[in-house]
Amino acid sequence: MTDRPDAPDAPEAPEAPEAPDEGAAVRDRLLAVHARLSRAERAAGRPEGSVRLLLATKTVPAGVVRAALSAVGELDGRAVVIGENRVQELVAKGPELADLATETHLIGHLQSNKVNAALRWATCVQSVDSVGLAERLGARATATGRPLDVLVQVNVSGEPTKYGVDPDDAVGRAVAVAATPGLRLRGLMTIGARSPDDAVVRAGFALLRELRDAVLACGAAGTADARELSMGMSGDLELAVAEDSTLVRVGTAVFGTRPPPA
Ligand SMILES: *Cc1c(COP(=O)(O)O)cnc(C)c1O
Repeated sequence: MTDRPDAPDAPEAPEAPEAPDEGAAVRDRLLAVHARLSRAERAAGRPEGSVRLLLATKTVPAGVVRAALSAVGELDGRAVVIGENRVQELVAKGPELADLATETHLIGHLQSNKVNAALRWATCVQSVDSVGLAERLGARATATGRPLDVLVQVNVSGEPTKYGVDPDDAVGRAVAVAATPGLRLRGLMTIGARSPDDAVVRAGFALLRELRDAVLACGAAGTADARELSMGMSGDLELAVAEDSTLVRVGTAVFGTRPPPA
C-alpha cells in the first residue's frame, strides 16, 4: 500500500454473504435424529441409546461431516459411525477425517477392482452380496493382516433397482461369507422397500430379522457374531427400530437434501 496522504481509501472488502451456519444446522438435526431414535427405542421397549447411528455421508463435504461428529458427545453415549457409498468419496475424505478415529463403513455397491482402495479406509463393508466379492475382500484383508467386518446385503423387497441377495439365498450366502478367511460376518443389511405403506416396509425389516435369527441359529462356523441388523434410513427408521434394527443409516435427516446425482 502507499503512504501518500491523498491516496483514496482502499475499497472495503465486500461483506461476506451471510453464510448460513451449516455446521449448527447439521448439529441440530443430528440431535433431532437422536431424539427420534430414543423415542423409537422406548416405544419398542428397547434400551435407549442401544441403536447405533451411521451417518450416510455421500456427497457431504468432510467439513460438514466433522461438524456433525463434533456433536456426538451430546448423544448420551449413542455410538456413531460414518458410512460412504462410493470408494472415490471414501478415499477422498478418509485422510481428512482420519484424526477423528470414527469407524467408517462402506454401504454402497463395491466393484471388485476397488477392493484394495476400499480397505484402506473402511473397517466394515455392509454391501457384500456375492461369494466372489467376499473372496476378494477376504484375500485382501488376509494380506493386510487386518480381518474385515462384513454384512451380507439382502434385497428384502425384491425391487430390481436394489442390490443384495435374494432372501431365499441369504442364509446360505451368509454361511459361505462367514467361512471366508479374513472376514468376520457381523450380520445383515438391507434397504427398506420404497413403499408408502408402512406395513410393507416393516414386513421387509421383519424378514431381515428372521433371516438374521436363522443365521445365528444355524451353528455354522463364523456365524455366532452375526447379530447386526443394519436397516432403517431417514424415512423409515422408526419401523426398523421396532423390528430390532441395531444400526440405522441416516443421511437426509442430518445433512439435508442431497444434490441430484450428476
Ligand atoms: C443414502 C443412503 C442411506 C441414507 O438415506 P437417507 O434417506 O438420506 O437417510 C442409507 N443407506 C444407503 C445404502 C444409502 O445409500
